[in-house]
Amino acid sequence: MARAKLIVGNWKMYTNAKSSVELAQAVAEGLKDNTQVMVGVCPPFPWLTKVSEAIKGSKLEVGAQNFYPAKEGAFTGEVSPGMLKEAGCTFSIVGHSERRHTLLEPDLLLNRKVKAGIAAGLGIIFCVGELLSEREAGHTEAVLEFQIAAGLAGLTAEQLKLVTIAYEPVWAIGTGKVATPQQAQEVHAFIRKFIAKQFGETVAQSLLIQYGGSVKPDNAAEILKQPDVDGALVGGASLKTDSFLAIVKAA
Ligand code: PGA
Repeated sequence: MARAKLIVGNWKMYTNAKSSVELAQAVAEGLKDNTQVMVGVCPPFPWLTKVSEAIKGSKLEVGAQNFYPAKEGAFTGEVSPGMLKEAGCTFSIVGHSERRHTLLEPDLLLNRKVKAGIAAGLGIIFCVGELLSEREAGHTEAVLEFQIAAGLAGLTAEQLKLVTIAYEPVWAIGTGKVATPQQAQEVHAFIRKFIAKQFGETVAQSLLIQYGGSVKPDNAAEILKQPDVDGALVGGASLKTDSFLAIVKAA
């Protein structure tokens, strides 16, 4: 079945008030003739409102990089899904490897985030991926099964419609070491099969699975051509208008 392509820029903890708006406006401008690819950017929290206002009416979607799974409350330093919606976000990343491994977020918390985000009406980009040591030990599939089963536990097939999975091998993030198109395809096909087992074939066939990890203009086309790769989650290359738009074009 033909699935849409989704390209998302994860700006991480980069940009400032001025550059975030300029970058988003330039990307939005570059999408004017784009009719096929869905495109989003995830700026840091403080710029979300400014960026959303700056690109209003364009084809660019704004998302967040993270949130806390509660409506409101005494959670010092945290941001709720409802606040993100009010700031103009239509989706959020959950479970990026930097949050799993640097901020030590456990699978149970990620599951609560997925559910809370969906309940608030946010699209969720749920990230999974193995460490280099796990790949070398032959544990890639077991790690992904565990992360997906835990992170999406308790979701209905209907709720899964708001979820995109991003396969991001940790060894490929920010390292310049990209998975080969074959490696990406193999894992994406595996993930789709696993989703089919858990949620049914129809849901699995319409699920978008993005690849992430050192996607650049010169390797994007080959990866995005794979039948089970439905887009890319882009870090470093999303911070430059030209390279990000070149990746969108490659899709
Ligand atoms: P990268 O980051 O493109 O800089 O490797 C990807 C990501 O962390 O989502």
